[in-house]
Amino acid sequence: KLSKRLQAVADFVPDNARLLDVGSDHAYLPINLIRTGKINFAVAGEVVKGPFESAVDNVRVSNLTDKITVRLANGLVAMTADDAINTVTIAGMGGNLIAEILAADTAKLEKVETLILQPNNGEKFLRTWLVANGFSISDERILSEHDKIYELMRVRHAKNTNANLTSDELTFGKYLMNEKSAVFKAKWRAEQLNMQKILDKLPAAAAEKRQMFQEKIEKIEAILNASK
Ligand code: SAM
Repeated sequence: KLSKRLQAVADFVPDNARLLDVGSDHAYLPINLIRTGKINFAVAGEVVKGPFESAVDNVRVSNLTDKITVRLANGLVAMTADDAINTVTIAGMGGNLIAEILAADTAKLEKVETLILQPNNGEKFLRTWLVANGFSISDERILSEHDKIYELMRVRHAKNTNANLTSDELTFGKYLMNEKSAVFKAKWRAEQLNMQKILDKLPAAAAEKRQMFQEKIEKIEAILNASK
């Protein structure tokens, strides 16, 4: 059984996808997707030897070597044209690193229809990068597990260049701020509290900084209070 976080990633994977899982580590995600019959072919990519070997072992003991290819490779280098990959998952790393992995090889993404990205942080940075590079976010989820809050996004090629998001949508997530789930509220209440703590420690002389934090706190308040 997958963790709640990886299950949410799996739920976004289209039926019969040909999947590349970048940074697959133990390869739990592709193994689960094949076992449940949702997909039939996957490449598990790993750049670090230890996790790569653990993926190889897990795929072998699961008797899935005919359906999952494990490759020691950096990011999208793990996929070849013959794989005919149409779906890429990148989960459990910083938003910065996810953007870096995509930026290193954007041409390879032309035939990829769906990207499922689960950044552990840097969500705004990643959304901004995606929109600036011809992608659009088609859905989002937020969930909590073991006292941590995770966001994930399903991404497609932008159909038009006007797929711009407002600054608020980049920060909070267009779908998440519209849905305003209990987890979303908890995340931003905590963020607000953190900012208030910083603000309380800033000396009056740091007027500009104080104002910046004040505005961010008020922005969160406005988003949380806005009616749907
Ligand atoms: N994707 C799994 C999950 O969400 O549970 C594993 C997450 S694990 C914290 C991140 C993995 O990504 C590590 O095993 C790391 O070695 C791998 N990784 C980091 N950068 C990578 C890159 N450029 N290419 C391939 N794998 C990478």
